[in-house]
Amino acid sequence: MPRKRMLFLFSDTGGGHRSATQAIIEALDHEFPGRYDTKMVDFFRQYYPAPLKYAPEIYQKMSKMPASWALPYDMLDGEHRTSAVNKLAYPVLRSAMKRLLEENPADLIVSVHPLVNTTLVFAMRDNPLPFVTVVTDMVTTHAFWYDRHADLIIVPTEAARQRGIHFGIPAGNLKVIGLPAAEKFLTGMPDRNEWRKKMGWSDKPAVLLVGGGDGMGPLAKVSQAINEAGLDVQVVVIAGRNEELKAQLEAIDWQLEHHIYGFTTEMPQFMHASDVLVTKAGPGTICEGFISGLPLILYSRLPGQEDGNVDYVVQTGAGVWAPKPRDVVTTLKRWEERPELREHAARVSKSLARPHAARDIAHVLAEQVG
Ligand code: UDP
Repeated sequence: MPRKRMLFLFSDTGGGHRSATQAIIEALDHEFPGRYDTKMVDFFRQYYPAPLKYAPEIYQKMSKMPASWALPYDMLDGEHRTSAVNKLAYPVLRSAMKRLLEENPADLIVSVHPLVNTTLVFAMRDNPLPFVTVVTDMVTTHAFWYDRHADLIIVPTEAARQRGIHFGIPAGNLKVIGLPAAEKFLTGMPDRNEWRKKMGWSDKPAVLLVGGGDGMGPLAKVSQAINEAGLDVQVVVIAGRNEELKAQLEAIDWQLEHHIYGFTTEMPQFMHASDVLVTKAGPGTICEGFISGLPLILYSRLPGQEDGNVDYVVQTGAGVWAPKPRDVVTTLKRWEERPELREHAARVSKSLARPHAARDIAHVLAEQVG
């Protein structure tokens, strides 16, 4: 019997959609070795016409100015507004989406991006295929994620499920599972001390700084503030795909042990080997921090989209909102003086983890495709 084909629609707008998609595919391979043919398509980059095909680059630019995000995000966040935008955009996107479907025949389509769902539904009107959405935002999930024609919408939190109900999705078509994270977070993690040694890190507490896939927000300023604070830590910064940021970090007059990296494919190992996570409020990174039991300091967020993530982390006690570089330093100092506070946040963080989400999603997709 031919293998069933699953087509994953994502885009490199940030790092989260790719990470989540890869995690689900890894989990499918782990749970059902050799049973499914899987394919990832970046619909913006590979199919959409200009200027939409540059969405990944545009996201990278906009994420350097987070304030510019709030207005369009909020303005479009409503059932009627998304419906109007989708209807307006469809004539422009119809041929691209039809070509995408023709060139990538599938038995199940899995959307891992908010901006593809309704266009896909329109394009499949005459010949609908089973279609599942995996929501990769945590709490303040945008209306674009929720299309009533999806056979199932998988969400990471109860709050995201409630948003779905609010947008008219039948309760039976919503499932709370979690945000998918790489298999590596679950199995085969190297010994923490040996990995640190291999990377040339000392025994000092490691403060890991991450700004999503695109190194978003004032990561250089935060690093500089930590550098000047006289803390007894080593700083590990991951600049992601942001080369300008990496150069800025390397130009700092460092007074303490520091390790600077560009985009890494070893995030599980980095987190496993670290003691504190300083990050923008990206859902993927936050959930990976939970799995790694790291206390969180959130230094930046995309207004609207990531506001709920900040509330979630702060209200549960897994971490702190520190929008100014000096707030980050104050928190690190407090945690240095009172380690029990850091340990408490770490325990809460671990308790929020859903490390098996990707495998659970793999099983649900397997059920859907039959
Ligand atoms: N990431 C990575 N390597 C890097 C930087 C980031 O693999 O060098 C991953 C990170 O582990 C997470 C994703 O990129 O899975 C970022 O997702 P998030 O939702 O935090 O933010 P986004 O980049 O989507 O805004």
